[in-house]
Amino acid sequence: MEDVRVLTGMISLTYQWVLSSTDARFFDELKNKKIMGTKCPECGRVLVPARKFCPRCFVDTTEWVEVSDEGIIETSTLVGEKLQFEGQPIKPPYGLAIIKLDGADVGLSHFIGGIDFSDPEKAMEKMKPGMRVKAVWSEERRGKITDIQYFKPLE
Ligand SMILES: [Zn+2]
Repeated sequence: MEDVRVLTGMISLTYQWVLSSTDARFFDELKNKKIMGTKCPECGRVLVPARKFCPRCFVDTTEWVEVSDEGIIETSTLVGEKLQFEGQPIKPPYGLAIIKLDGADVGLSHFIGGIDFSDPEKAMEKMKPGMRVKAVWSEERRGKITDIQYFKPLE
């Protein structure tokens, strides 16, 4: 068998996602500092971000529910300075977490901010599972997930 020769490169792709009416309402409500979920009529879970159907029960969600902009960290990680990638909305270092907002039954993925990241160990102490966080909203909101700048630890 011949040796396979390869060239390594990088490509940049612009994506567009078509929003469902459920997605559109979820993003529009962020302009009013409201985080909305939808409730599954079968299992009763409140899904955030709002979803058109429950991925567990495969039935359409039927009810809109406003959840709190506070919640608890379920899991988190720290993105270090050397991890830069195209399209990254904020510069490292920063925290990323799965956050279960009060009133929701599933976690929302978002940034952790408003803490000192210069000492990674100290920063991780502030974003441990179970710690409470609150949304820090952008002054100017445009109906995007970045209308929430980040979640700030309350302790
Ligand atoms: Zn369900």
